[in-house]
Parts: sequence; structure tokens; C-alpha cells
Amino acid sequence: MSSSTALPEWPPAMTPEQHAQLILLSSTYALSHGFTLLPPNSSQPPTSAIPAPLSLLPTPFPRGLYDLAVSLQPIYNALYARIALDWEFLDRVMGGSVSKVDTFQGELWRGWRQVRDELVQPIQLGVFRSDYLLHDSEGTGGMEVKQVEFNTIAASFGALSQRAGEMHRYLHKATNSYYSISPELSNASNFPANQPLKNIATGLAEGWKAYGNDEAVVLFVVQDGERNVFDQKWLEYELLEAHGIQAIRHTFSDLANLAQVDRSSKTLLLPSPLEPDSPPREVAVIYYRSAYTPTDYPSSSEWTTRLLLERSRAIKCPSMALQLAGAKKIQQVLCEPGVLEDFLLSPDRPDVGAGPLTQADVDRLRQTWIGLLPMDNSLLGQEAYTLATTHPERYVLKPQREGGGNNIYRENIPPYLKELEKEPRQAGEPEKKEAYILMELIEPPKGVSNWLVRGGENKARKADVVSELGVYGVMLFGGDDVVNNGAGTLLRTKGRESDEGGVAIGISSIDSPLLV
Ligand code: ADP
Ligand code: MG
Ligand code: MG
Repeated sequence: MSSSTALPEWPPAMTPEQHAQLILLSSTYALSHGFTLLPPNSSQPPTSAIPAPLSLLPTPFPRGLYDLAVSLQPIYNALYARIALDWEFLDRVMGGSVSKVDTFQGELWRGWRQVRDELVQPIQLGVFRSDYLLHDSEGTGGMEVKQVEFNTIAASFGALSQRAGEMHRYLHKATNSYYSISPELSNASNFPANQPLKNIATGLAEGWKAYGNDEAVVLFVVQDGERNVFDQKWLEYELLEAHGIQAIRHTFSDLANLAQVDRSSKTLLLPSPLEPDSPPREVAVIYYRSAYTPTDYPSSSEWTTRLLLERSRAIKCPSMALQLAGAKKIQQVLCEPGVLEDFLLSPDRPDVGAGPLTQADVDRLRQTWIGLLPMDNSLLGQEAYTLATTHPERYVLKPQREGGGNNIYRENIPPYLKELEKEPRQAGEPEKKEAYILMELIEPPKGVSNWLVRGGENKARKADVVSELGVYGVMLFGGDDVVNNGAGTLLRTKGRESDEGGVAIGISSIDSPLLV
């Protein structure tokens, strides 16, 4: 579906006094409502917080395309659940060249293969986020949404995104509709309802219920020195307040010493050092906000811990299979003819709560894709290599990594491929480039600007912006009961000059859409 909605000229003009007041109101709102990050190099326990990087005004987004992306989420949830349940497919795609050339993906796939026949917990939990950019290939305003990637592990900013939307609604109310500087900002129905914090916490609670022990806890596996901790803490508070479920936080490395798995029952137990006389706590759900990048595994002991946790009876969010399903290599293989039909339309696939799907659903979903090519020695792979070296300005080259900052763009691609070719190779090892995929560049509409406020600064910077829409999904599957829900959205807005948009690395701001 393409939309020809013209985006309004943005941002609307305002007086310096209005501008200063909006900065004051947004920063104080952010600080009072935990729409915050830790400052760099915080002490432990922390003694201060800064507002998360934010957009002063919400950014216009075509309503039809927003609704489309939201409506596709249950189908995407079903797709990725079915991928995680299809061992043969995961072996074919992830056990091939990728696992031989990419050490991290290789460890993940081999580790999963090692434990998968011993697993005692059939139920899996997914907290997903499907990311999109607006695509205006002709520069004519005839827009589409195109998927950037699908995240199956540690999808973040659900809580802060809810706060961003609440903040923009607050500004609407507190300032007589933003001082009536624009008709779009005056209409409350242009601010979509959005509660990813509530919905993700409910998803974690569904996992906890499916586990079936009222005394059990949810384990948050987190990174050392995480600055985005309030985004996680809000989920803990919501679990406790709305569902009466306790959460325990540990870094992945800590668990090497702490985690115990009972030999016969396979329950995952955590001792409670604060209550030495109490028995260890049983874990119902393991929620990873870590364990997705090589630096989370500084030694082999982290891999040992991952396998220990995977073998336990706790429900994993995500399982290793589901993490593998989120690889960019999978995204590329899904683009090959017939693969999507097989996953969504074949009658042999497990019921994962999306209802009976039709070719029209498949077509709708596929319309959100842009060209993805393998970098292997197949015919298509050879074509990709030629395109990447003759027309690099059309492409981004992606390794199997998460967390931002890993991609190679445009004219940097040919010299990068040259360097890869120089790297030493063992006999029989595939070429290094096979660990990558080649993706066409999505071309966001030009001419949209906004005021971005960097955390901890008392001024806003006006930038030509690109906004990335994330749609959350929650999926419980593999057991008797299935939960398959959309769970709200995220809008991250960055200056057009930067290719990557990591909020944590200070490039993107957390925004909310103004539906037009
Ligand atoms: P990660 O898993 O590290 O977040 P992504 O695939 O999301 O990797 O890429 C990181 C960023 O790069 C995206 O947020 C987006 O800003 C940019 N990007 C990725 N793919 C494309 C694309 N095909 N066209 C334009 N920009 C892209
Ligand atoms: Mg990702
Ligand atoms: Mg991303």
C-alpha cells in the first residue's frame, strides 16, 4: 500500500519564548516521569538521571501506513514463531556458511544444536519489534513503509516510548494545543494511543502464568553499565504493580556464579543473598536485555551460562532458536520466492494465533519489504556482489549483529569487501563475505525537520530528520495456549546526516508519531 498523504511542513514556526517554554516543559516532564537515561559513567547506585534524548514536537507520520504496520504485527509474530519452531529451516540457513564464518552466530547455532534435544520447556516467549522507515523512492510523496529489520531479542524502548507519547499529549494539554502553532498539533486524535510498557509487561506476565508457579520470579538478564536502565525498571515496576510479579536483575556474567539448575526437575533457582535462611527463588521467565552481542560473551563461561539457562525449565524470552530466527540472514532468506508462502500458508504449520491467513496477507506483508540479497556464491550472490561493487550508492551491507553501529553504507562497501577478501581463511572455510547480507537502501521522505533535545542539554537543535517506526509484538507459543498480540509502537527520530540511529549512543531521540 502506498500513501499519497503529503506531510505537513515541519516543524511549524514558533516564537523564541514558546520554544524556550516547550524545552522547559518537556525536560521537566521527562525528569519527573522517568523518561530518562543514566548519565555516562554513573556510579552504582546512581545519583542522577538525565532526560532521554527527545523530540520537542511529535513528528508527522502518514496514518494509513502507521495503521498498516500495526495491523501486520500479529502476522509477523506468527511468522517468527513458526521460524523458531522449524529446526530444519534454522539448520539450513544458520547452520550453513554463516555459522562457519561468523564466530558469534556459529557459537549460538552450535550451542542451540547441542541442547535442543534435552529441552524440557516447550513454551517460548517473544517480545518483538519490527522496525520500518518511510520510503519515498520517487521523491514524489507517494510513500510506503519498508521494513528495516525484525528484532527477536532485547527489543528496547517500550517503556520510554510510552512516556514520549504521554509527554507529547501532556504538552498538547498544557500549552493550549502547542500554542495553536499548527492545525495538526491542535487535534488530539492525531496523537495515537500507545502503551508498549503496559503491553510488554502483560506479555511477560503471560509467560509467568504459563509457567505456573505463584512463587516464581521473572529474571531480567542485563548488561553491566547499562544506561537505558529506566526503560527496564519501568517493566519491573509494572510487573509488580499490575501483576504482583517480582523481578530479579542480574548481569549475564553474574549468573555464572549464581544460577543453579536442579538436576531432575530442571527448575532454575537463584539464591537470595539478602535472605540467607530462605530457599532459592525459582525463575519462571528469563527476559534477556543482554546476551545478543559478542561483547556480552567475553569468555567461554558466558556461553556455558547461556546453555545452562537454556536447558532449564524457565520460559526463555527469547529462546536460542528465537534469537537465531531474528538474524538478518533469515530476513534475507525469507525474501526468496515461496519461503513466506510456506511459512504462512502451508497447512502443516503449527497454529500460532494469527487465524487462517491468505495470499492477500502474504502480499500485504511482502509489500513492506525492500530488496535483500545473499553475499554467497549462488547466482544471486554473485549478482549481489556485482551490484555492491558497481552501484554501492544503492545499498547497505549488514553483518549478523544487533545493537546498532555495525552496518557498512554506500561507497564504503567496495573497499570493505576488498579488505574482507584479504583476511586469511582456513582450508574449506567459506568466504568472509558470506556472513553478510546486502540490502537496498530505504529512502525516507525529505523536507521533514524537528527540534531534537539531547539528554542533559538545555537547548534544542533543529535537524532534517528521518524517523524509524518500531512495532512491538508479544508472542507466547510452543505450548497449548497461544498469545499473539501487537503491543504498541516506538518512533525514533534522528538527524538525516547520520546513517545509524542508536538512542543510547546519542544519535536518535525518542519521539512519537503525529498521524496525518
Ligand atoms: P541493528 O540490529 O544493529 O539495529 P539495523 O538493521 O536496524 O541493525 O540497522 C541499523 C540502522 O541502520 C537502522 O536503524 C537504520 O537507521 C539504518 N538502516 C538499516 N537498514 C537500512 C536500509 N535498508 N535503508 C536505510 N537505512 C537502513
Ligand atoms: Mg536489531
Ligand atoms: Mg535496528
